[in-house]
Amino acid sequence: MGEANACGAAPWHEREWDLVIMGAGTTGLSAAIFAGARGGRVLLVDASPELGGSLLVAHGQISAAGTKLQKQKGIHDTPEMHYEEALRISKGTIDKDLARLAIFNAAETFDWLCDNGYDLVPDVPSLSNAHEPYSVARYYWGKDWGRSIAKVLIAKVEEQVARGTVTQQLSTRIVGLVQDVDGAVTGVVTEEGDGRRRRVRARNVLLAAGGYAANPEMFERMVGVPLFARAAYPYNKGLGIELGVEAGGFLRGRDRYLSNFGWLLRDDDFPSPIIGRVNTYPNERPPWEIYVNMNARRFIREDEPSVDQREHTLLRQPNLRYWVVFDDAIFQQAPPMVYGWTREQMAEAFNRQFPFTRAETLDQLARAIGIDPAGLVATVKAYNTGRAAGRDYFGRLHMPAAIEKGPFYAIRQQGASVTSTAGLAVDGELRVIRPDRSPVKGLYAAGEILGSGQLQGDAFVGGMMAMPCLVFGRLLGEKMIRF
Ligand SMILES: Cc1cc2nc3c(=O)[nH]c(=O)nc-3n(C[C@H](O)[C@H](O)[C@H](O)COP(=O)(O)OP(=O)(O)OC[C@H]3O[C@@H](n4cnc5c(N)ncnc54)[C@H](O)[C@@H]3O)c2cc1C
Repeated sequence: MGEANACGAAPWHEREWDLVIMGAGTTGLSAAIFAGARGGRVLLVDASPELGGSLLVAHGQISAAGTKLQKQKGIHDTPEMHYEEALRISKGTIDKDLARLAIFNAAETFDWLCDNGYDLVPDVPSLSNAHEPYSVARYYWGKDWGRSIAKVLIAKVEEQVARGTVTQQLSTRIVGLVQDVDGAVTGVVTEEGDGRRRRVRARNVLLAAGGYAANPEMFERMVGVPLFARAAYPYNKGLGIELGVEAGGFLRGRDRYLSNFGWLLRDDDFPSPIIGRVNTYPNERPPWEIYVNMNARRFIREDEPSVDQREHTLLRQPNLRYWVVFDDAIFQQAPPMVYGWTREQMAEAFNRQFPFTRAETLDQLARAIGIDPAGLVATVKAYNTGRAAGRDYFGRLHMPAAIEKGPFYAIRQQGASVTSTAGLAVDGELRVIRPDRSPVKGLYAAGEILGSGQLQGDAFVGGMMAMPCLVFGRLLGEKMIRF
């Protein structure tokens, strides 16, 4: 037996817990708060030395319909309307049961965050712009992005820790599940920083360890696309998914990979950190430039209004890569195109090179970025000809200037997803299920571990990653897990 703590309780690894939570992030913190408030004895285990998970690095933009804030601002909205829009944006591919569960419980979760000090920016709710917009303003974010949500959750978890319902075990990984002869989960195997392993008894286990977007090997194995951008929470290496599958579960959504319409990466080697983003939103900044793929061809009208259309078109381009190409007159006249950067900062970036390239001629520019020089010259010529005739071959309408006089510029944009597409299959009670749809007793999963393929379908549906994490964590802790 290990030593009892100051209150006389057995050490954490010798107790039997009502609920062991793998991951103290968006989902796990929410579940711990509400399970603890119900009087459950909860062990919250995280590989990292701190609480918060992806909320420490994410934008934390969430959506909810029928909130008190919308009512105060005179915005008519209902969960039914939100659900219909999630179906519209995802073209019917979002998991309908999970979407309904998340959307119909989102307002209560959002109001709870606000009641507990969520420091929102003033001009929300908004329609969302980063993704295909909603038609009703139901998109929110905090002054400190995801950290604004983390602050609320951590303070509430600490209340439960003080009450003695929740025990935290940080810098500790869950590396295995314990199952009885019938396959029911009865505990976990933990591993502390010094490599020491322990078997811990649990009546229920919640897999809330996020996805695999910090694991390049698993990312590519899951969706057949390399992990281009290094932006995920570094501890999210997909072990929760592997454990769920080993316990009998299976994956959904592997065929739903979708990338954003491009990031500026710091390095040519991937995964690479993201250093910024070109404003490719025509409603915010109508484009002056053209977009050219690795075959030196344009592939879309650059002022295509649909974010979803732009993203899906990029998905068909080699290496999900393109260059924003323009000349010096455009550089001097057009509004700076990198978010938050001045023209001077951009000029400085072209001195540093990658992913910024400048050359005196189009031929030299093409050689410098590694695409066919004759192809680029022909593409620019065709664009200029169409512009002069007022008939662009992609139907582009905004064409303020020709691209004709050097120096010429190219900025490399890389399509990438920073979240996990594939995830564990669960039933309507968030129980991990086997291929025959029977639940693995005692085992639940929620959060990014379910994958964007289920939570958002074949689209980026605004706020439908972080918000379901918060909702599902709350529902599991509050009522779905039987202690
Ligand atoms: C840059 C970025 C921006 C984003 N912006 C948005 C956005 O604006 N809107 C939106 O809806 N979504 C967004 N997302 C996605 C969203 O934030 C995440 O999907 C969500 O927060 C994940 O929550 P989670 O609870 O599943 O996992 P997390 O919050 O990541 O928690 C998982 C926890 O599990 C721990 N863990 C991992 N492995 C183990 C292990 N073996 N044992 C114990 N603990 C383990 C981790 O340390 C982590 O703390 C963004 C993601 C990124 C990376």
